[in-house]
Amino acid sequence: MGAKFKIQDTGKYGLGVFADEDIKKGETIKVFDGEVIDFAETEERIKEGSENRTDTFQVGLELDMDLDEESRSFNHSCNPNAGFRGISELIAIRDIKKGEEMTYDYSATVGPNVPASLWEMSCDCGATNCRKIIGNVLTIPKEQLNKYRQAGALQDYILKELDIIEKNNGISPKYKPIPGHEELS
Ligand SMILES: [Zn+2]
Repeated sequence: MGAKFKIQDTGKYGLGVFADEDIKKGETIKVFDGEVIDFAETEERIKEGSENRTDTFQVGLELDMDLDEESRSFNHSCNPNAGFRGISELIAIRDIKKGEEMTYDYSATVGPNVPASLWEMSCDCGATNCRKIIGNVLTIPKEQLNKYRQAGALQDYILKELDIIEKNNGISPKYKPIPGHEELS
């Protein structure tokens, strides 16, 4: 499979990933790959300086994937044209034209167990529905979250956790504290 995209300067916020051909809704853009590590190992790598908090990519309730540079180059948007299914398969959630920047909603990949005090980003993506501050998956407005669900663009572990919360009348279970950040729980 040839690369469907190229990395180039956005002219606004550093590098971004751009479609190099027209991509149809539902089509796979890229399966993100990297070493799967537990949260304790993520904290170790952040402490060592080989990983940044803002670059982590969650693939399980207490699992991250240490992404390669290319995967890290995809930017966030509050009105994205791509999203994840399965573990780490990035798909188009609408038709994408050649030359368009491809983005996903970072919040949709951050589990409900990650508190705002640990992971939160300010956003200036320019979308009319920009949330300005983005946090974990529970901070996504319901309507927007449903859009991702209908597009089949939520990771397996996120679907599982949302289901648990839904069955518990919208109340999150008590999660294990993040290693090294027990005071946040
Ligand atoms: Zn935004």
